[in-house]
Amino acid sequence: MTIERIIKKFQENHPHDDVAVLVKAFKFAETAHQGQMRKNGEPYIQHPLHTAYMLAEIKADLATVAAGLLHDVPEDTDHDLEEIQHRFGTEITTLVAGITKLGKIKYRGIERYRENLKKMFLAMTSDLRVIFIKFCDRLNNLRTLEGLPAEKRKRIAQETMEIYVPIAGLLGVSRLKWQMEDICFKFLYPDQFHELEYQYEVEKKVERNRFFQKIKSILIPKLDEAGLQYKIEIRFKHLYSIWRKMQEKGKRFDEIYDVFALRVIVPTIDDCYKTLGIIHTIWKPKPNRFKDYIAVPKPNGYQSLHTTIFGPESKAAEFQIRTSEMHEESIYGLAAHWYYKNQHRPADYRTPGWVKEIIEIQKEILSTDELIKNIKLDIFRDRIFVFSPQGDVFELPEGATPVDFAYAVHTNIGNKASGAIINDKLGKLDQELKNGDLVEIITEKNRPHPNRDWLKFVKTKHARDRIKQHARRSPLDNIKRFLPRINK
Ligand code: MN
Repeated sequence: MTIERIIKKFQENHPHDDVAVLVKAFKFAETAHQGQMRKNGEPYIQHPLHTAYMLAEIKADLATVAAGLLHDVPEDTDHDLEEIQHRFGTEITTLVAGITKLGKIKYRGIERYRENLKKMFLAMTSDLRVIFIKFCDRLNNLRTLEGLPAEKRKRIAQETMEIYVPIAGLLGVSRLKWQMEDICFKFLYPDQFHELEYQYEVEKKVERNRFFQKIKSILIPKLDEAGLQYKIEIRFKHLYSIWRKMQEKGKRFDEIYDVFALRVIVPTIDDCYKTLGIIHTIWKPKPNRFKDYIAVPKPNGYQSLHTTIFGPESKAAEFQIRTSEMHEESIYGLAAHWYYKNQHRPADYRTPGWVKEIIEIQKEILSTDELIKNIKLDIFRDRIFVFSPQGDVFELPEGATPVDFAYAVHTNIGNKASGAIINDKLGKLDQELKNGDLVEIITEKNRPHPNRDWLKFVKTKHARDRIKQHARRSPLDNIKRFLPRINK
């Protein structure tokens, strides 16, 4: 991978942006990673380059691609976030800091699944772009797993399937989702993967292409006759989803009829229904296989008309009919808005507030998805999540302070707290923490008691109780204790 290729890809979607910062970020990262090697023997810089390229592919904006180039610098080199801030400014640094923070989260097995999921959600609400960088980072790591021991490969694949894939699904980024799924499938079930790959790639390829040419040759004249503008694509189902379908339905590869599908992309919604009408006039639709995701979109926003018909040679074929806008969204999910944000939109197009939209999606998915239904959205309301330097996450109420955090970690840390470092900067014990803050408590070994004044600002009952329990009573308190008696 080269920086030139990244710039070329980036400019396809953002022709007017000044790409000087990408060159600058590349040079800085290249120098910083100088001499480092990946496990597969490549120079380290190839990893951030591939990450940035994938971001450019999903149409990420300038700051995100630049952050992709820089994402491993603070973690793996002598150059810290402060230096990045100095050279590249706040926006890029915030993204890089987000990635660095996510990297501090430790994977602790399946039982920690939910906790990890929460952490991803947390990062998402602050800046979604961090998640996209993390996805591309992970995808490239998956592609270079070959050099690792089988056990470790499996673990990483498992983690990806449990955490990254569902979130990619939530965000509707099917492009990243299926790429991750197929790679993980290969590592988790190598035999099944290779068998299916062989059937799919080798055995059926010629037959498949001939069949589609035939369908197209019948359909195209009819679409032309109706005066429609259209684009026809062959859509291949990804290996993992074929395999899953075979498992679920107990079917053989050649019994899965939507392994291949034709996608017809037209300008307007009206054209979608017209095209559907034409298809159903030529071929008989298979009962119960028509789905109108335009009238009723999927929870992640997916829209299209799906129908399966009995095609030539009585073979079934699936059609997906959609507008180009729906097409973009189905591939890039919410990332499509990076791109559309700056384009001329039809007046009726709703510009989504990213975070709002995600919360809507979370609600839908959380109420429907069997796997994660136990996580209630309430958890995220009025709560903040704060990281410890060890990568643990603590849930605190809004407005919580470093003292609340200290007591959440351990009573002794609370009792002996003397200061706080918040996101690598010296902070105050009574300052309000923000979602996603990384907090380190400075303790004073010889401090015998907590400070009673902390009661004025702590937010959690836990901290309050502990302070009351351990704080030395002031002389004033002793007087107060006698007051009621004196009054009587
Ligand atoms: Mn990385």
